[in-house]
Amino acid sequence: MISLRGVAVHNLKQIDLDLPLGKLIVFCGRSGSGKSSLVLDTIYAEGQRRYIETFSPAVRRYLEKIEKPAAERLEGIPPAVAVTAAAGKSESTVGDQTELTDYLALLFARSGHVFCPKCSRPVTADSPQTISETLKQIIETKTKIQIAFSPPPEENAAEFAVVWKEQGFLRGLSNGVPFRLDEPLPPHFDQDNLLLIADRLTRESAEEERIIESLETAMKYGGGKCTVLTDQTAYLFSQSLSCEYCDIYVPPLTAKIFDTDWKKTIHLSPDPHSPVLDDLLNKTAAELILFFDAFFDTINSTGSFPADEIRSRLRFLQDAGLEHLTLNRPLSTLSSGEQRRVALASVLGSCLAEMLYVLDEPTLGLHPSAAEKVLKSILQLRDRGNTVIAVEHNEQILRSADYIVEFGPGAGDDGGQIVFQGTVEELLNDTKSLTAKYLRNE
Ligand SMILES: [Zn+2]
Repeated sequence: MISLRGVAVHNLKQIDLDLPLGKLIVFCGRSGSGKSSLVLDTIYAEGQRRYIETFSPAVRRYLEKIEKPAAERLEGIPPAVAVTAAAGKSESTVGDQTELTDYLALLFARSGHVFCPKCSRPVTADSPQTISETLKQIIETKTKIQIAFSPPPEENAAEFAVVWKEQGFLRGLSNGVPFRLDEPLPPHFDQDNLLLIADRLTRESAEEERIIESLETAMKYGGGKCTVLTDQTAYLFSQSLSCEYCDIYVPPLTAKIFDTDWKKTIHLSPDPHSPVLDDLLNKTAAELILFFDAFFDTINSTGSFPADEIRSRLRFLQDAGLEHLTLNRPLSTLSSGEQRRVALASVLGSCLAEMLYVLDEPTLGLHPSAAEKVLKSILQLRDRGNTVIAVEHNEQILRSADYIVEFGPGAGDDGGQIVFQGTVEELLNDTKSLTAKYLRNE
């Protein structure tokens, strides 16, 4: 329970009030009656003060210090976030405000596929197991293959043969010309263009286990790299994320990589025609909903992080009538009503629980159908275990409230008092409440 005693912020007259947690609570009353002083300047301010206290001291340094509101006692207020009119920086976009840009970057970092910026081949970190799987796909069963590696150079060629023969290797290729370590080395023996053969086999007859063992051997002696040769082709593999053909190394995927130019070569799936991050940011919320419905089904990630976060935020953009907006649309180009709804989408689409959400007139300027969708999202937010406090006069919202608090009786010095608190049923039977008269159409 939220328990407030002796609140004297602005015009409030020593307010005492208990509010239930996990409910939708609506504050109403005429302009200047003190409802915003209690909701925003007392409850939210205190909730935010406590929320900021959960950050590390290093982060707190950058946050505004919030003074304790004027009150005898404020207890049981959960960490709070508020939605008022969007105050985003001019360059921030719909995707930034709703955090969809961040979650999409995270999705690419987790399940994206990198393609070489030079030759467009897929860039993967290989293991003996993944190479064995790849070989099954790219090499026909009856093909003869050689599993090879490039050995580190020795001081002189004669020593080279001794050292590697002792390790149990017999054959190699120098500039593509075969040689044996137990025979005199070829006249143009070139240590810089050299492969030693770890195994020779036919894919069909060889056991999977033997292929993997030989690949392990080759990678061990080849410094994490190996080569698989057929009569026609040499396939290069590496344990690190790099293109062995172009000698381009790719750092491990993290969300940070999207601040750099790599991002143009990171695709969402192994198909090189699948979208990169910018392709998705150029799509509208409606297009993305269709896209991800199919995509999350195919990769079987429904219900996992960050799939849920992406879907719930897209769904709220749709519910709030914003499905026509692309994610890279700057907030500064939106109407103030649209800006407000994007701000709402960012909290209503979030999956946090046990928070306090403070919403300042969430349905202001909305068509009834859009207001109904906002209400639906507010109720979902409550049903996930959050407390929602809204300053609101919208009839749909008032009628759906679990608890209503009305301020009055007048404005300024004539206000600052609670004139009603209770359920909707109790409100409808109240004789003095102005809100009750409004709901009864009097
Ligand atoms: Zn390449």
